[in-house]
Amino acid sequence: MLKSGKNKIDGLFTKVNKPSRYLGSTYPEEKINKKSLLKVALCFPDLYEIGISNLGLSILYSLLEKDKDILVDRCYAPANDLEEVMRKDKISLFGLETKLTLKDFDIIGFSLQHELLFTNVLNMLDLAGLEVKSDKRDWPIVIAGGSCCFNPEPMADFIDAFVIGDGEEVLQDICHEVISAKKKGLAKKQVLGLLSQIKGVYVPLIGNTVKKRVVTDLDNNLENYSKTWPKVPFGQGVHDRLTMEIMRGCGRGCRFCQAGYITRPIREVSAVLLANKTKETLEKTGYGEVSVLSLSSTDYSQIDSLIADTMAYCKRKKVSLSIPSQRVDSFSVKIGQEIGKVKSTGLTLAPEAGTERLRKVINKNLTDTQIDCTLKEASTSGARKVKLYFMIGLPTEDQEDLQGIVDIAKRASKKSNKLKVTASISTFIPKPHTAFQWCAQNSLEEIRQKQTFLKENIVGYNLELRWHNPEQSLLEGLIARGDRSVGQVIKKAWQKGAKFDNWSESFNFDIWSQSLFDQGLSFDDYLKGRSLKEEMPWQNIDSGLKLSFLKSEYDKAFALKPSQDCRIKCLKCGVCENGVKNIYSKPTEIATSPARNDVIAPCLPPCLPAGRAGRRSETTNQSNGKEGKSRLRLVIQKLPPLHVLSHLEYVKAFERSLRRSGLPLLYTEGFSPRPKISYSPALAVGTSSQGEIFDVWLTAKDSLDFSKLKKSFVKGMELVTYKLLDNNHPRFFKEYIGASYQLTLKLNKRISVDVINDRIKQLLNNTEIIREKVLGLSIIDCKEDSLTFEVECCIDLVPKWIIAVLEQLNIDFEVAEVKRLKFLKELDVKKI
Ligand code: SF4
Repeated sequence: MLKSGKNKIDGLFTKVNKPSRYLGSTYPEEKINKKSLLKVALCFPDLYEIGISNLGLSILYSLLEKDKDILVDRCYAPANDLEEVMRKDKISLFGLETKLTLKDFDIIGFSLQHELLFTNVLNMLDLAGLEVKSDKRDWPIVIAGGSCCFNPEPMADFIDAFVIGDGEEVLQDICHEVISAKKKGLAKKQVLGLLSQIKGVYVPLIGNTVKKRVVTDLDNNLENYSKTWPKVPFGQGVHDRLTMEIMRGCGRGCRFCQAGYITRPIREVSAVLLANKTKETLEKTGYGEVSVLSLSSTDYSQIDSLIADTMAYCKRKKVSLSIPSQRVDSFSVKIGQEIGKVKSTGLTLAPEAGTERLRKVINKNLTDTQIDCTLKEASTSGARKVKLYFMIGLPTEDQEDLQGIVDIAKRASKKSNKLKVTASISTFIPKPHTAFQWCAQNSLEEIRQKQTFLKENIVGYNLELRWHNPEQSLLEGLIARGDRSVGQVIKKAWQKGAKFDNWSESFNFDIWSQSLFDQGLSFDDYLKGRSLKEEMPWQNIDSGLKLSFLKSEYDKAFALKPSQDCRIKCLKCGVCENGVKNIYSKPTEIATSPARNDVIAPCLPPCLPAGRAGRRSETTNQSNGKEGKSRLRLVIQKLPPLHVLSHLEYVKAFERSLRRSGLPLLYTEGFSPRPKISYSPALAVGTSSQGEIFDVWLTAKDSLDFSKLKKSFVKGMELVTYKLLDNNHPRFFKEYIGASYQLTLKLNKRISVDVINDRIKQLLNNTEIIREKVLGLSIIDCKEDSLTFEVECCIDLVPKWIIAVLEQLNIDFEVAEVKRLKFLKELDVKKI
């Protein structure tokens, strides 16, 4: 049986790339609730850098962390190199903070955001030493949430209970039901019976019909989770920034968009609360970038006042703001200009289809003129990059629609030579709970032909084309509308080695084709069009949308009839019943940028109130001089476990600490301003340090408040000293010429000190690099199984060269620890 254990896990750090993925530390430090009644592991079935950027999981984590009865931990799919070591050394998959094996938890919760991550779920269960099939497993209870659960059938054999809809309230209900069941000593089957009674929980064993759970008060939700949220990770995520959710749901009704349909109704967070929370959270975390999150951020009713207010703060604090989901109109360009005042960002637009006709089919009712106007504005306003998102394989698509994509991309590229245009082409996949859930998906051959046409025609020196792997899209389509038999295919494929199927480098289509064939199934069985009368595998999952509504949208699509945005006119889709309805932010008292007020007003649905006009005066804390008013020298220890951070990760963590300190930092100029800091030479991953030296430029020299400095640093990054330097104080590389390191070797074969000393002397005389660069070398300690020595060397000699040279000593060793002790000035150095 697999085992876990903290020492064993810490030992893994030296054997893998990117050990920071498994470090588990954050700022502020996680609190491990040792007296808990329930242990919950929240798992994301993809690499750390993807999972750590997932807002939903971080919200759930914070809500559970607040509960005194619950110990919560998190876990991500280990990369292949770690998995190899774990399987070889029989180490079980573990929670990052507690290092407990997943088997020790009462609940394991997976976030299912993408069909191509399903094999990773099975792999993680197996790595935890658990049976993958639900009926062969006892405790822990394995639950899943996320958009893929709206068709739970492909994973129904492996997951005990699915959360349908918003997870915040339902997860807490599940936890408390399990706590009470544990107290009563109930068996797993009985617990599952109780869970099926909770609104929003589907238990495959019971086969209950379930109605989606909806969080109706997002303000209250934000107030709740933000008490312990967010945790700033040290390892770098794909979105390494603060993310503020501004709204759930979308009223636009794009007929292919599952996210838009299943997250209805629209619920906006109040703009005043958001503005305040954003500032407060930036201050407490030290993030230098913030992004707003929703399906269509520029549809947020108070976006003008929110952006104006947030930008005024961001400009003062040199924080960049990004708005990833925007619609195609001039409003997006104005917002791009506004937020580009701190950091230059590109414009991302999603026309989705190449012609007005096809855009009518999908209910994305944009005209060519609107698209061209936006592109023109973008190019004249100085945007340097435009990303255009299109989909191929949409219902009724023909050659003219493909040509339309080429034409839009070319017209965009002709707007300006300086504009870099990227056309990103995805493949339409009919998803459950959408108006197109009955439609056929294009075959592999059709998609390949369409992609070839686009590759041959979207060419130009400022034009770039990106496309999705058609085989991955085929698999996504198969699983998305799959039934329980698809679960057997998933299991077969995993047994044959399929995992990380969403990563093209690890995706193996042959494995999937073979697994389907073994089950007597084919892609065509699942990708073909379906009759409107056909029963769907997800029929017992009630998303709130009436089937009659989806069917009428389907009919309207083929009749090229538009449906209005439901913020303007309710289409009676069925969602806003039983106390749930669209909720908009109130007009706010926060300032509005007049530069954008003139363009937002016409874009707002008539029923919504526009924000108030008014301009906030802007100030910056910048000094006019590039050198700043003063230089602060900090000496910082880099101690385990942070020694496994890369230099880049360490620098980010350091910059965030400085931002939290509230000191008046001087920022660099250019497109991505950053605090002006000079660093001592980078340390290799795995090397700790007794005193790294950082010079930080400030915009003031008097009345500086250092009271927050010490506690703004994180555990493992300890502030040793700080002092303000005179203006004429030399720069680091003028002042220091060397460094001393302490190396501890684990000796695999015993050897006497005299022999080692002799060999070192020979080495010093015979090796050129040592003669030139090593200034001193002495043995500190020699035991039967370890050897510790100190090396003083030139600043540009890195420990790995010393280790490479030591390998010539003809002794059998492994490196146990490398520590930088201090930097050396000329006077410190005694040449050997
Ligand atoms: S019931 Fe009406 S307002 Fe509510 S989500 Fe559906 S269409 Fe929109």
